[in-house]
Amino acid sequence: MPATPGRALRPTTKVMPGQARIYNRSLVLQSLYSDGPQSRADLARVTSLTPVTIGALVSELITEGLAVELGTRSAARVGKPATLVGFDPSAAHIVSLDLSPDAVFRGAVLDLAGTILATAEIPRGGRTGQAAADAATELARDLVDRAERPVLGIGVGSPGVVDSEGVVLSAPNLAWSGMPLAEVLNQALDTPVYVANDANVAALAEHSFGGATGSGVLVLTIGLGVGAGILLDGVLVRGDRFAAGEIGHLIVEEPGLPCVCGRSGCLEAQLSPPHLRARLEGRSAAEQEEVLNQAGTGLGIALAPVISTLDLGEVVLNGPPDLVGGSLLEAATTTVRRRVLPVAGKPLVLRLSTLHENSILLGSAVLVLSSELGVS
Ligand SMILES: [Zn+2]
Repeated sequence: MPATPGRALRPTTKVMPGQARIYNRSLVLQSLYSDGPQSRADLARVTSLTPVTIGALVSELITEGLAVELGTRSAARVGKPATLVGFDPSAAHIVSLDLSPDAVFRGAVLDLAGTILATAEIPRGGRTGQAAADAATELARDLVDRAERPVLGIGVGSPGVVDSEGVVLSAPNLAWSGMPLAEVLNQALDTPVYVANDANVAALAEHSFGGATGSGVLVLTIGLGVGAGILLDGVLVRGDRFAAGEIGHLIVEEPGLPCVCGRSGCLEAQLSPPHLRARLEGRSAAEQEEVLNQAGTGLGIALAPVISTLDLGEVVLNGPPDLVGGSLLEAATTTVRRRVLPVAGKPLVLRLSTLHENSILLGSAVLVLSSELGVS
């Protein structure tokens, strides 16, 4: 499935003396995870740790099953050929849930390299509140049972505003307000659980598996809701109230189309696939083009100030390619370039995601990988 894992997310907390070993261990794991098999001498060089420290950490990782010895490299230099050490993605499995679709909750079992090994879904049937949390628990339990390796953790991408403890502060579609989802799942399944906003985990997926480069990346998820995840210098921007990237209800057109939030002219009213498809239906090709152009222009208007303010180098659109690609993407790109200074607009990459429908499942796995192993 996914391509080579990418660079590390930057740790957001300071390393305390007692944590040095954990930090060093994650440096070694990250290097094996993203750069592939290496000798112990290579690892010492790239991590700047001593050969003795590397030796001890590698032994520990081998004992835990996270690293394996892979034989020797053909000798390019004089002397004893070095033994290569590699990350073992089958050491454990991860369970991921994507709670963003309207009709179903989706889930998967993945290995540590982000390869999807099994998927399952459960119809939501309009369930909200505790019943929706129960449905998510049932799906997670089914997937934990299917995992053929120890489960490292459960990652969840949820719609709405989610705090750093995995409490869904507000998700109107699911009628969740202060739902302690991480705690609910943890108590039911006795496994570490990490929950984050769906658009934020989609950004993590682009970082680790989608080839997003550069230090300023915005990933816009265009689904039932429209929201962005922003990574600056390898750190996910959460914001003052955990609502960074909630740009779906920015008004981009006045007067505009009516929106579910009760106002009109919101970006979401223009962009969300159900609205967009309804407006395209029964129209001539030229009229359809006009609708897509208008939606792309609205998107460009909303994105331009964010791109300028944060000096972003890359914007990734994660939505149905038949709607979001083509004219819509072109109109958005043209609008952004017209509205920002050439220094920001010219080098900007605005593109479609290649992960699309799996991005939230993959990103939820990154939540677990980064929290439990320090790799991403
Ligand atoms: Zn709105």
